[in-house]
Amino acid sequence: MSFETVVVTDWSGASTPSPVRPSKDAIWIGVACDGGVTTSYHRTREAATEALCALFAAEMDSGRRVLAGFDFPFAYPRGFARALTGRGDPLALWAEIAARIEDGADNGNNRLDVAAEINRRFPGEGPFWANPLGRDIADLPRTKAGYANPFGERRVCDDAPGAQPVWKLAGVGSVGSQALLGIARLEALRRRFGAALSVRPFETRDTPVTLVEVFPSLIRKTVADLAEPEEIKDRAQVRVLASALRALEPADLDAMTREGDPEEGWILGLGHQAALDAAARAAAAPPLVPPRLRNDCFALPQGVDWVPVDAALDRLRAALHPLTATETRPTAEAAGRILAAPAVARRSNPPRPNSAVDGYGFAHAATGEGAQRLPLVTGRAAAGQPFDGAVPRGAAVRILTGAILPEGVDTVVLEEDTATDGTAVVFDGPVKPGANTRAAGEDVTEGAQALPAGHRLRAPDLALLSALGIGSVELFRPLRVGVLSTGDEIVSAPDLPARPHQIWDANRPMLLSLARGWGYEAFDLGRVGDDRARIAARLDEGAREADVILTSGGASAGDEDHVSALLRDQGTLSSWRIALKPGRPLALATWRGAPVFGLPGNPVAALVCALVFARPALSLMAGAGWTVPQGFTVPAAFSKAKKPGRREYLRARLTAEGAAEVFRSEGSGRISGLSWATGLVELPDGAAEIAPGMPVRFLPYASFGLV
Ligand code: AMP
Ligand code: MG
Repeated sequence: MSFETVVVTDWSGASTPSPVRPSKDAIWIGVACDGGVTTSYHRTREAATEALCALFAAEMDSGRRVLAGFDFPFAYPRGFARALTGRGDPLALWAEIAARIEDGADNGNNRLDVAAEINRRFPGEGPFWANPLGRDIADLPRTKAGYANPFGERRVCDDAPGAQPVWKLAGVGSVGSQALLGIARLEALRRRFGAALSVRPFETRDTPVTLVEVFPSLIRKTVADLAEPEEIKDRAQVRVLASALRALEPADLDAMTREGDPEEGWILGLGHQAALDAAARAAAAPPLVPPRLRNDCFALPQGVDWVPVDAALDRLRAALHPLTATETRPTAEAAGRILAAPAVARRSNPPRPNSAVDGYGFAHAATGEGAQRLPLVTGRAAAGQPFDGAVPRGAAVRILTGAILPEGVDTVVLEEDTATDGTAVVFDGPVKPGANTRAAGEDVTEGAQALPAGHRLRAPDLALLSALGIGSVELFRPLRVGVLSTGDEIVSAPDLPARPHQIWDANRPMLLSLARGWGYEAFDLGRVGDDRARIAARLDEGAREADVILTSGGASAGDEDHVSALLRDQGTLSSWRIALKPGRPLALATWRGAPVFGLPGNPVAALVCALVFARPALSLMAGAGWTVPQGFTVPAAFSKAKKPGRREYLRARLTAEGAAEVFRSEGSGRISGLSWATGLVELPDGAAEIAPGMPVRFLPYASFGLV
C-alpha cells in the first residue's frame, strides 16, 4: 500500500502551553505530500490533536492515505501490557492508559499521578520514575535510588542510539511522559476514526490512516545537514523525516511499517537509516518537474522548445544572406560555380536559318500538290561550307544538316523522300513551307538572357554559354565551408591507431566531401576534444577562414555537449532541437558573424541534418538561392507506425518495381544504412500508419545534390 501523505509529529509532554512564538521543545507537525512539505507549530496537545483530526479527515475525503508518525514509544517492554490489562496487547494498554489520563486544553495533566498509580500495582520502586515537580508523589521515585523494575528496562528497539527508556518521566527526552500523554491522545483518535485508522505494527489492516512510531534522531546528522539556517531543530526534524519517508519507494515504506514486535512495537525505519538518509537528501534536491505532455501525447523534454522542420527552415532562410564577392572566370572553368549576373547571348542560336536534315532546298512558293520536279543547281550547301550565290526560284540545291540556307531557299525536303539523276530532284507535294529548316534565333536570340544570376553551372550550361559566344562569366566567389569534428573519443583519420573506446572520424570526410560536391571550397578545421576553450579557438579560426562552419558532435544539451554550451554562452544560438529524426540535437548559431551548423555527432543524423538543413542554407549563402529537394511519390515497400511530433527521414532505396524499401534498422548508429540507401523516405510531422503499397515521399540522394 502506498501513502500519499506522510505526517511526522514531534510530540511534547509539557504541562503548560508552549510559547506563542514557535519554539523548540513544543509540538511540531510536518506534512509531506505530492506538493512538497509543510510544517505547523502547536502550543498544546489538544490543539495538535485537533489539527491532526482535521488533516486526517480532509485527506480521507480526497482519497489520500495517510501515514502519521509520532516520536514517542507506542508500547512498553514485554510483559507490561499483560501485567496491567491481562492481555499482551499493546492497544489494550492504550485503552487502559487513556482511561486514566486527564490532559487539559492547557496541557495541565495527571500523568505523574497515573504513573504513581501504576507503580503502586507492582512491588518495589517503579517501574516509572523521575518526578520533576516540587511536591512529592507517593510511589513515584524522584531518582533511580532503590529502583526496582519487574519489566525490562528497554524495548528491543530502544537500543537505537539516543533512545530513552519509556519509564523515565522527566529529564532528557522524558519519553515516559510523552508516551503516557501521547498514547492517551492517539487512543482518542482511534475511537474517533474507528475502522479507518490502524496502528502498526500491532495491526496489519490497510486503512486510510495508519499510525506509526518514529524517531527523528535516526537521521540526526542528515537533519542537521539539511536544516535551514536558524531553523528550530524540532521543525527541521519533522520536515526532513516526513519528506524522507514520503520519498521512499511506497512498497519499501509499507514494508517498514510492518516490521517489529507485535507487543513491544518498533521504531519505523530502524535498521534502514541509510535509506532514510538517502531519501531525505533526494527529497531535499531541487524539485524535478516531470516532462510536459503535449496534446498529442508526444513527450517533450522539459524546458525545450521544439521547432518543426519547416519552421526551422523558414527561420534559416530568412536569417541568411548570399555572399557579395564576385569574380570573372572563363566559361570552361565555371562548372559547379554560381552565376553572379545573368549570362546574355552574344548572338542568336542558330545565328542564321539552316537545314535540320540532309536533303534538297528550294523556295516553297514554286512548289505545289502532286509530283514535283526541280532542276538542281551546281554545287551544294554544307555545314561550314555555305553555298556561294542564290538559288533561282523553281530550282533546288543539294543541302546537308547544319548548312546555312542559301539565298532563295526557305524549305528543305528530306533526302529519303526524293529521287535524283544528278540534274533534277523529284518528290511528292505538297511540302510544308519551311519544312526541315531551323529559323535564326529560334533557340536563343542575340541579347537575350541565356541563364539567370544564381544559376549553378553544370556541363550542359557550358554548352549553352559557349554556343552563345559567352566565353567568360561573372561568378560568386566560392562559398568557404569549414568542417570541424568534436569529441574526446574521435580519432582524426582511419590510418591512425584507435583504442577500443575511440572511433575514427566518420563525419569530417563525409561533410568535406559533401561541401565539395556542392561546389564549395571545403576547409578542414580538424578535430578537437571536448574542451570548450579549444573548440572556441578552432571556431575563431574557422570564422576567419570560412563563411560558414559545420561542426559535428556535442550539439545536444548534455554535460559533454560543449559545442551547444559554447554557442549558447558566447555565440548566438538562435534555434535548436528541431523536431526531426534522426538528428534532433542540431544547433544553429552564429560565431563571430559566421553561421555555425552544430550537427549531431552521430553520422546518420549528421548526414540527414546536413542534407535537410545545411544544403539549402549553404546554397542560399553561396548565391544559388534556397533549394527544395525534388521528391517523388512512390509506393512503400515497408510498414511502419509513426508517432506524431517529429518529421522522420528513413534510409531508403527503390526496389526493381519502383517501390521504396527502408533499411532494416532505424538505429541511427547503423552507418552502413547510409551506403545501402540511395535516398531518404520523408515521413510527415504527424502520426502515420504506413503499409506496403501506400504512397510515400522518396527523396533520392541526387535531389540533395549528393552524387
Ligand atoms: P555527440 O553528438 O557528441 O553526443 O555524439 C553522438 C554520437 O556520435 C557518439 O556516439 C559519438 O561518439 C558519435 N560521433 C561524434 N562525432 C563523430 C564523428 N566525427 N564520427 C563518427 N562518430 C561520431
Ligand atoms: Mg561527444
